[in-house]
Formats: sequence, C-alpha cells, structure tokens
Amino acid sequence: MQRVVVLILCFLFLTSNNKQKLHANIINQETQIVLTNIAFGAIIATIGSIINHANDEHWYKTIPKALWQGALGGVVTYLGKKTAYLIRKEENLLYAWPARFIHAAGQSMIENVALNKNFWESYKLDLYFTRLEYNFSSNVFKARLAPFALGGMIYMANYGKLNLEKSLLGATVVFEGKFSKLRENFPSTYFHRYKSIMMWDEAVPNVYSYFFSHELIHSLQYTDFMSFNALLNKPINKISNQFGLMKTILEYVYLDVHYMHLVYQIQHLQVNSDEQYYRNYFEFEAERLSSGSDVEKY
Ligand SMILES: [Zn+2]
Repeated sequence: MQRVVVLILCFLFLTSNNKQKLHANIINQETQIVLTNIAFGAIIATIGSIINHANDEHWYKTIPKALWQGALGGVVTYLGKKTAYLIRKEENLLYAWPARFIHAAGQSMIENVALNKNFWESYKLDLYFTRLEYNFSSNVFKARLAPFALGGMIYMANYGKLNLEKSLLGATVVFEGKFSKLRENFPSTYFHRYKSIMMWDEAVPNVYSYFFSHELIHSLQYTDFMSFNALLNKPINKISNQFGLMKTILEYVYLDVHYMHLVYQIQHLQVNSDEQYYRNYFEFEAERLSSGSDVEKY
C-alpha cells in the first residue's frame, strides 16, 4: 500500500512539474513574440523618424518619442495577430476582420511615427490588393492599388480556384486547390503568397480554420514589412518629384514590395529538417499564435 501511495505521489509530482514547465514555456514563447513585435515597431519607428526628421530639428530629438510610440505600435500589431487565434477557436473566418483592423492600427502608428508625424495622423489598411488610407488631420481618404498583391493573386490562380465567399469572410483573398495538384507543386496544401492564402478545398472545418488563422498571420507579417516604405520615403519623393509620370503613378499605386521575403529566407537557413520548421521565427510566431499552444523548435 505504501508503495502505491509513493508511486501516486511521484506521478502527481512529475505531471504537475511537467504542466508547470509547459506553462512556463508557453509564457516564454509568448513573451518572446511580444518583445519581438515591440522591438520591431520601436526600431522601424526610430530609424524612420531619424531619416525623416524635419530640417529645423535635431535628428536625435525624435528618438525618445519614436521609441515609445513605435513600441506601443508593436504591442498593437501583436494584439492583431493574437486575435487571429479566435478564427481557430470559434471556427469562424469572420475574426480575420478584427485581427486585420487591430493589426493595421498598430502598423499605422509605427509608419506614422517613422514618417515623423503624429502617431494618430492616419489609419492605413492593406486589404486584398489595395492600400487604403484615411488621414484624420486633413480628412482625406486615399485608395491605391497594391501590384505585388495583385501579382500574388494571378500566381495563386494557377494552382487553385478563387473562393469569393471565404475571401469576403476572411478579409483576405482565398484560393482553394486540389490535394494532388498542390502536393505536386508545393510542400504543403496550405500556404501564403503576397497576401493571398491557398487552402486545401476538402479540409474539414476545424482543420480549415486552424490553417487559415496560421496563414492569416503570415499575411499580417507581410504587411508588417510595409513600414519599410517609410524609411525610403525621402528618396522615393525625391525621384518622383523629378519624374512627373512616376509621381502620377504613385498617386494610384502603392509599392507593396515583398520586403519580408529576404528576411524569411535568412530565418529559414536555420531549418535543416521538417522537425526544425519552427526555428524560422515567422513560422514560430504564426504557429504559436494560431494554435495557442507550445511550439517545439528542436
Ligand atoms: Zn507557415
């Protein structure tokens, strides 16, 4: 009897210890993601505010404000990505809308500060193949075409069929493909390219919503990198002021360059096997936030 009690106690101790370890790990992973988003926002906002400082102010005076406002923007972009978890939890693609709206609020803050403007100056939303922007101080609304996102849609159309209903529900262009065709050309039946999402057309609802939330987070990561445009604002303005046609084009076209691609590929150098997939930060973040559980990096 004594042996049984000792064994039960050992079992309880080990399982509670494992649970505590697992819980601590989840907190660590979540903290890592929060801090990465904060650092990303603070760094982009600060570099941008230095580059775009007004001629009559010292560049270093922009730093303290840019640091905390950029960091705050990073917290909001994190919350947007975190909201994508509800898609999986509630098995409802409609949660993609609050995820995108919240994320865009954080991204707008970072971009505004990087342009050395008030963080609340304008709200910028990368939606489908457009960039929508509303300026609160001038009350001006601007809609521009995002050519890379449009190109992504054309690319995806080669492998799947556009699902209009899911695209409207999920605030993202959604394509669905046949298993054999997708596996013939790609390592997975679910993936993201230039803000469009490819899904396996026969996925059951809970699997569908799970992978959708993961891929939506990739779409939000893609738009995170749009703030790089704020760093290039001065040279782009200088060139477009010299070429009238370019200036006219940029009135209607937003340069949604796939800046993330290079950083993603560098991150992927750490991946030497399928097991190590989540060593890539972008995959780790998407999986951690969409699954709401611990991710093994190996
Ligand atoms: Zn992924």
